Amino acid sequence: MWQIPLGSVHRILCLGAHSDDIEIGVGGTVLELAERVSGLETCWVVFSAPGPRAEEARSSANDFLADAAFKGVKIGSFRENYFPSQWPSIKDWFEEIKANFDPDVVFTHYRDDRHQDHRVLSDLAWNTFRNHLILEYEILKYDGDLGQPNLFIPLSEKVSERKIELLMKHFQTQSGKHWFTRDTFEAMHRIRGVECASKTGRAEAFYCRKLVLTPI
Ligand SMILES: [Zn+2]
Repeated sequence: MWQIPLGSVHRILCLGAHSDDIEIGVGGTVLELAERVSGLETCWVVFSAPGPRAEEARSSANDFLADAAFKGVKIGSFRENYFPSQWPSIKDWFEEIKANFDPDVVFTHYRDDRHQDHRVLSDLAWNTFRNHLILEYEILKYDGDLGQPNLFIPLSEKVSERKIELLMKHFQTQSGKHWFTRDTFEAMHRIRGVECASKTGRAEAFYCRKLVLTPI
């Protein structure tokens, strides 16, 4: 198994359709990066966060990015569940993001995610960022769309616990959902930890469709 140190990543773009998506899919990785990479620059974009979810998204992003050197947080107002019909205006937002931030890594939703809003962001990430490393994160859901990711980022026990603690703290509007529980997130970390032989037993997992290796 080939391993690459996280330290070569300095600028990340995190894209999430809804206010808790980035945290669930890549929150542990962001915490690991913020702790280990001095000068981490982050652009964090949530496309839909109606009502109280906007404040949830903002306060959560502030906590997840507390150790980042630079953080740009954007909260959009696109209509939840209707992203396919808003494609042109969402594409315009992607172009604005690209004009202002050139990331080392783009984190977006899984291409085969069964949520239509998630798929729009995944497709537009590939459509917009043509010379970037794009990693697609996963979100457990009723539809049962988990697959076999091929890139893993181990999480320390401390980071795994911190991510879950922040999810429980910030997203009170989601607390009634049957899947939004500590053990759901612990289980995901453990399953992906087993699959990459993580020394801590915990990890987040991603889909990497294209990787370019350079001679230097
Ligand atoms: Zn979502």
